[in-house]
Amino acid sequence: MTTCTVAANQTNPHLPFGDQRGAPFYGKDILSVNQFCRSDLEYIFGVAHEMREMVARVGTFDLLKGKIMASLFYEPSTRTSSSFLAAMQRLGGSIIPINEVQYSSVAKGESLPDTIRTLECYADVIVLRHPEVGASELAAQYARKPVINAGDGVGEHPTQALLDLFTIMEELQRVDGLTVTLLGDLRYGRTVHSLARLLSLYDVRLNYVSPHALRMPGEILSELQDKGILQSEHELLAPVLPETDVLYITRVQKERFSDMDEYQTVKDAYVINPETMTAAKDRMIVMHPLPRLGEIDMAVDDDPRAAYFRQMEYGLYVRMALLAMVLGKA
Ligand code: ASP
Repeated sequence: MTTCTVAANQTNPHLPFGDQRGAPFYGKDILSVNQFCRSDLEYIFGVAHEMREMVARVGTFDLLKGKIMASLFYEPSTRTSSSFLAAMQRLGGSIIPINEVQYSSVAKGESLPDTIRTLECYADVIVLRHPEVGASELAAQYARKPVINAGDGVGEHPTQALLDLFTIMEELQRVDGLTVTLLGDLRYGRTVHSLARLLSLYDVRLNYVSPHALRMPGEILSELQDKGILQSEHELLAPVLPETDVLYITRVQKERFSDMDEYQTVKDAYVINPETMTAAKDRMIVMHPLPRLGEIDMAVDDDPRAAYFRQMEYGLYVRMALLAMVLGKA
């Protein structure tokens, strides 16, 4: 349910300016995109924009000096984990990185609640990636410190969706009125689940392009339909490419398939190459949460519309903003 954190906080006139408790996201968990409303997003992107400017100006500064972030990853990650670590360090804070849970007490059979209760004795905020849907919510029930969901199985990836939306804002200066085409593995790709939900706060048209077996889950389709979002499903990109403003491509999530023969039949369903790009708008942007496998030809990388490397950098600023916010410094 959308709670609208910023608006709720503005109605509290009793806290003096600069009081940490007056910061709207102070002490809050970041678990799902459903917790945000548009004014929350404006607030987050405002802070992320300031972070971008600060990094360009001074690189590293002491906003979170003395604070510690524990980063607990039960699944592989390059960008999410390293951008959270970089974000904390650019804000002057310190880190407890646990990227290889097989070398922690998890390998001895420790439960998630106990691992979380351990880490919160040492850290001020916990970033968690876990293969099970709902793991971050479970962790948040046990933790007194803020928990940030860095991906829970095929469920959600809220910080990725925030950085995706921030990328669209920074690159195209608007979201209302855009046609966004999500392509690839829409069934198992958690980033598209979160992004579609977040986009539904805006006046957008969504195209879903996927093999039949990898369609967007019905639950998300009906959630967005109830909000009046125009959605359409396709197996081919060509009919919708010319109207697309944002082409968001995802990898087929091999690790989620129980049947490898099924994976083989869909793994190369789409390949975007320079020829594909000739049919796209001049101002379209191509996004991808990465890693990419074969779905975007490297020859597309030099096209100015290829935004996927810039998208990674925007992630740093959004994660700096989130850390500063939940720790009461923004
Ligand atoms: N890095 C993204 C994720 O963790 C996308 C992917 O793995 O395909 O969900």
